[in-house]
Amino acid sequence: MTYAVIGPGAVGTVIAYEISKVAEVTLFGRQEQQIILSSNTIDHKVNVSSLVLNDQTFDVIFVAVKVTKLAAIISSLKQMCHEETTIILCQNGMGQLDMLTDFNAVQAVVYISGQKTDQHVKHFQDKTLIVPNDETMQRISSELSVTELQLIPSDDFAQKLWFKLLVNLGINTVTSLTKNTVHILELPEMNKFIEQLIQEGIEIARAEGQSFDERTTREIMNIYKTYPKDMGTSMYYDTVAGVPLEYHYIQGELKRLAGLHNIHTPLLDICCILLEGYQYKRE
Ligand code: NDP
Repeated sequence: MTYAVIGPGAVGTVIAYEISKVAEVTLFGRQEQQIILSSNTIDHKVNVSSLVLNDQTFDVIFVAVKVTKLAAIISSLKQMCHEETTIILCQNGMGQLDMLTDFNAVQAVVYISGQKTDQHVKHFQDKTLIVPNDETMQRISSELSVTELQLIPSDDFAQKLWFKLLVNLGINTVTSLTKNTVHILELPEMNKFIEQLIQEGIEIARAEGQSFDERTTREIMNIYKTYPKDMGTSMYYDTVAGVPLEYHYIQGELKRLAGLHNIHTPLLDICCILLEGYQYKRE
C-alpha cells in the first residue's frame, strides 16, 4: 500500500516516521521542509513535501492537520484519492467527519502526545490510533504491526471516541481558559469544577446512547494525575500562540448535542461563551 500523511506536526510526523519503517510514505505540509523529530533523546530528520505541488494518488491517507485547517486541504485531498483510497482522520473532537462525506473516511481516536515548535517535533508519549473495526482497518493495522504505531481496530469505537472527548472536555477547557498548565489541578476548587464539567459531558454522552457513569469521572481525573505538571494541552498551546481553537468540535459540539437533548449544562455554557469570546475575530 502507498501512504500519505497530511500535517507535519506533533501527530503527523510521528505517524509518517513510523510508517516509513515498513512502507512508502510521503509527509505533506504547506511547503517542502525538513522536520526534526525528537523521541527518547534521539533526533530523526523527516522530509516534508509540498501538498499543493503533489500530483500523486495514495491508497491510505492520514490527515493530521488541526480541525480548524481541515476545510483548507479538502481540494488537495480530492486530487490525492483514487476510487479505493481510505482516509484516516487523526484529530481530537467529534462531528468533523461530516466535512469528508465525499470520501471513504474514518476518524481515529488519537493517543499520540507531542508538541511542534517551529521545525521541531517533540514526541512525549504513546503512538496509538484507535479506529472503527472493519476489514480495511485490519489490513492496514496488520501491515503496520511491526512499527511502533499501533492502529487498533475497535468494535467499541463510538465509546472510545466519546471517552477521549470527555478527557479533552475537562483538561483542555481549563488549561486554555486559564492559560495555565496541568499544575492548576493542585487547586481543589479547580478539581471540583472539572469534575462537574465532565459530569455534564457524561449526561450528554448518555443521552447519545453511551454508557458512562460517575466512575468515568474518577477514571478521567486519575488520568489527569498521570500528566506532568508542566504539560499543556493542544488547546492551551493554541491559546498561548493566539491561534483559533478546535473548540467548535469539542466543547461546541457538546453544547450543540446538549441543546438537541434539552440537557441543562450551566458550566459548559459558560465555558463556551468564554471560548467563543476568545475565538471571536480569530477564525
Ligand atoms: P500541529 O499544529 O502540531 O500540526 C498540524 C500540522 O498541520 C502543522 O505542521 C501545520 O503546518 C500543518 N498544516 C496546517 N495547514 C496545512 C495545510 N493547508 N497544508 C498542509 N499542512 C498544513 O497539530 P497536532 O499534530 O498537535 O494536532 C493534530 C490533531 O491531533 C489535532 O486535532 C489535535 O487536537 C490532535 N491531537 C494532538 C495531540 C498532541 O499531543 N499534539 C494529542 C492528541 C490529539 P504549519 O506548522 O505550517 O501550520
